[in-house]
Amino acid sequence: MILENGVIRTLDPSLPKAGALAIAGDVVAGGVGTHERGAVSSERVDLRGRCVVPGFSDAHVHFPSWALGQRQVRLEGARSLDEAVARVAEVVESVPEGRWLRGLGWRSGDWTPRIEPTKKALDAVSGEVPVALMSKDYHSLWLNSAALAHANGQLQVPGGVVERDGAGEPTGVLREECAWHFRDTHVRPSVAEMVEASREGIGLANARGVTSVHDKDGWLGDLAVWQQLKDEGSLTLRVWQSLPREHVDALAEMGMRSGLGDDLLRVGYIKAFMDGTLGSRTARLLDGSGVEITSREELEDLIRRAARGGFPVAVHAIGDLANREALDAFEAAAKEWRPRGLRPRIEHAQLLASEDIARFAQLGVAASVQFSHAPSDRDLADEYWAGMTDRAYAYRSLLDAGAVVANGSDAPIEELDPLFGIRAGVLRSIDEREAWHPEQAVTVEEAFAATCVVPAWLAGDERRRGKLVPGYLADLVVLDRDPFACEPHELAEIEVVATMLGGRWVFNAPPWG
Ligand SMILES: [Zn+2]
Repeated sequence: MILENGVIRTLDPSLPKAGALAIAGDVVAGGVGTHERGAVSSERVDLRGRCVVPGFSDAHVHFPSWALGQRQVRLEGARSLDEAVARVAEVVESVPEGRWLRGLGWRSGDWTPRIEPTKKALDAVSGEVPVALMSKDYHSLWLNSAALAHANGQLQVPGGVVERDGAGEPTGVLREECAWHFRDTHVRPSVAEMVEASREGIGLANARGVTSVHDKDGWLGDLAVWQQLKDEGSLTLRVWQSLPREHVDALAEMGMRSGLGDDLLRVGYIKAFMDGTLGSRTARLLDGSGVEITSREELEDLIRRAARGGFPVAVHAIGDLANREALDAFEAAAKEWRPRGLRPRIEHAQLLASEDIARFAQLGVAASVQFSHAPSDRDLADEYWAGMTDRAYAYRSLLDAGAVVANGSDAPIEELDPLFGIRAGVLRSIDEREAWHPEQAVTVEEAFAATCVVPAWLAGDERRRGKLVPGYLADLVVLDRDPFACEPHELAEIEVVATMLGGRWVFNAPPWG
């Protein structure tokens, strides 16, 4: 097949731009220059000036959670507690007997008046239906009394917070490990529910140009979900899968190592958490605030054990102290992971001490960030991290210091939509407002590299994917215009026309109108 009469952005510095692209089977056959090659009998696709880029990777996504979230009560944008409760009230009748009412997306920082949610507020509308509402950052869980009853008073676990009122009664809000423990124990979706939702989600992801994901929901049993989808032939995404830290030793014992799998589904990396988040005010800062989920020593030990078993570690770190301790741990354990060629990463890296920025490149620890978080979090960051935002979401500084920077969405926290993320990275704004800390903006080239090239490298696929050069898998996206040549304000209008995975159209096969 030859795609011709367009602009091919290969993302390869030796031939960044071509006029046509030849595809043979599942791989790119030639980075064709302005002249065409290939047999006369080749299928020809007229791009009519459209642009082709490598398929997008989302380097940080909770895929089934995002897919399930498409069907839950959404509380984003609620301007008050009352408005959030009203949205719950609207759907409570439709919940089948014995089922949970699940929701997500609330953020009390967005509400006027600025109050914390309570079980009482929910009880008034929910009756006997158990209600579990995850906050926008996934670090707080808001429950009603019927939901709390499932725990029989067993709410407290290490690394978590049970919010209590003046009388010592739980208010209905759990944070960090307490929130996750409750969810995992009582509100967990079944594999069948996850498969069903993810099947639809894959189609939506493909329609947004996504051909690969670094999934973070290994703890939910995603391997089973993906395998089922692969067996039935509906897995049209390449998956680099996280595994929970609890299984490190068992994996080593079995001899299962990072990279096991095939072109579609691979066992990837071990996921851990250092701290909480900005929105829940649980990010661990050098000023002493925040919640510690994993200590420096524990992480170092985990990195060592994971490395011996052949796994890199991806660790969530938001606050500047959490990031420093994560970097310290990777540094202390470097003799274990570096000789094995493992590619460790810090997820989010949202607030960094100035002197730690250069350490990402020096140590060889990738920054797995979400460009969309900067403009999306700007108001909260200005408030909670006042005086510190010159070193928050410091993507320009990281790149200038030579760090490897990957981009993801962290969906369902932000929408799974790479073009939205690319735009956010370049413009540092997602609304009509001026750019937020424009000195930290990245270029279009850097945004695409972080979205296409770097995630493939993190997955050990840098000689197979991420660029449109001969021999690489033909994972590509057709865009209606060239993002490298259009005006910045036009970035918001770019649309995905079609998506190809391994030489096969998985969204909107040609001809196009
Ligand atoms: Zn995440």
